[in-house]
Amino acid sequence: MPFPLIHHPGYTIDLPTNHPFPMAKFRVLKEQLRKESAGQASHWLIPAPVAESDLRRVHTHDYLQRFLTGKLDDAAQRRSGFRWSEELVERTRLEVGGTLLTVEAALENGLACNTAGGTHHAHADAASGYCLLNDLAVAAAHALARRWVKRILIVDLDVHQGDGTALIFRDDDRVFTFSMHGAENFPARKQQSDLDVPLPRGTKDEDYLAILDAHLSKLLDQIAPDLVIYDAGVDVHADDRLGHLALSDEGLMRRDAYVIRLCREADTPIAAVIGGGYDRDLVALANRHAQLHRAAYRYWLEQR
Ligand SMILES: [Zn+2]
Repeated sequence: MPFPLIHHPGYTIDLPTNHPFPMAKFRVLKEQLRKESAGQASHWLIPAPVAESDLRRVHTHDYLQRFLTGKLDDAAQRRSGFRWSEELVERTRLEVGGTLLTVEAALENGLACNTAGGTHHAHADAASGYCLLNDLAVAAAHALARRWVKRILIVDLDVHQGDGTALIFRDDDRVFTFSMHGAENFPARKQQSDLDVPLPRGTKDEDYLAILDAHLSKLLDQIAPDLVIYDAGVDVHADDRLGHLALSDEGLMRRDAYVIRLCREADTPIAAVIGGGYDRDLVALANRHAQLHRAAYRYWLEQR
């Protein structure tokens, strides 16, 4: 079985957006991976747009109606960071479909990586911070509803707190939300995850990795999840334009390799998404995101 990577043709669509950074990172990442062994040796899976019935497990009927049919008011569009268009809906549904497919591929193969995903600020009833639909939550709810798994651990290492996901699963014991993020980063008003680990501004590789190590192995032991959904946001990098932490390229690689190894050694399937990352230099940014796929591919090879 080749290494499963999930690709989104929808992400090459240029969208009207208020986003301060170009959204073409998805295309650049894909091009970069295609050139590398991690991409060349991969089985590229292409998702279908997520069904409305899958979205309804997480999002309210009212919000879905407004988002899917273009009835978000100006304030809601501003909060989302996007101007509404049919292409936006199509692309967003593909993205969520991609994380569903990543979960399915991970449960089948032990490990699968998305080349997009991680829209963790989306709430059940509202878009927020460039996140329209919560792919992590929809994919988790889908796996539970299909009875593929009983217990899920969401490991959210994006520099921003996974506030939408935390709130969606606040009263659901089947999903444990773990968010390790910059204490001073967006959102200003944090929600309560099952475990939050806020980090001080400027946290570097060694401290970051030691803190992660202190929590993650314990969580895997205590929770014994049937699936880990991993948000590998690279906005923890020192050069990120929005994050306040200070990881190096090597630190990112070590982090992702560590999370993958720990989960797989516990025999837990891991479905990884790329999460946030903000830089006007798209090649440098794609290179940061590609660390996840390189780390996963390296582990994959070792296990053959
Ligand atoms: Zn982020």
